[in-house]
Amino acid sequence: MRCRCYRCQLRPGEFLEFEADRLACPKCGAGEAVVIELADVHWLMPDPAGPHEGSDGVRRAVGCDRKRDVLALGTLDHFAASPDPRAVTCPRCQGLEAWRQAAALFREMRGVLAGLKGCCG
Ligand SMILES: [Zn+2]
Ligand SMILES: [Zn+2]
Repeated sequence: MRCRCYRCQLRPGEFLEFEADRLACPKCGAGEAVVIELADVHWLMPDPAGPHEGSDGVRRAVGCDRKRDVLALGTLDHFAASPDPRAVTCPRCQGLEAWRQAAALFREMRGVLAGLKGCCG
């Protein structure tokens, strides 16, 4: 899993991130108190039949799990989702054609989209 250590600050607002199978920083040795697991951010895509109604009145569904009707179950649940395509990091959500179209509306996403195109793009 991807982790971030809040004790090892690289720059203001930017912290050391690393791959590990437990919450322990390879640099400073800190544990759970300051090391967190980074969860993939899923896409809340517009879907008239989606289980989530936003404050804007638009119904949405989780891109890679359209039937999921709960988002975070609590502070221990790492599930994260955003209606903003720029915030999405889940590879399955990014694989959706609808996400590509939504992301393409943002100029800063062009590089990301180009990188995702693979061999057939
Ligand atoms: Zn650290
Ligand atoms: Zn996803």
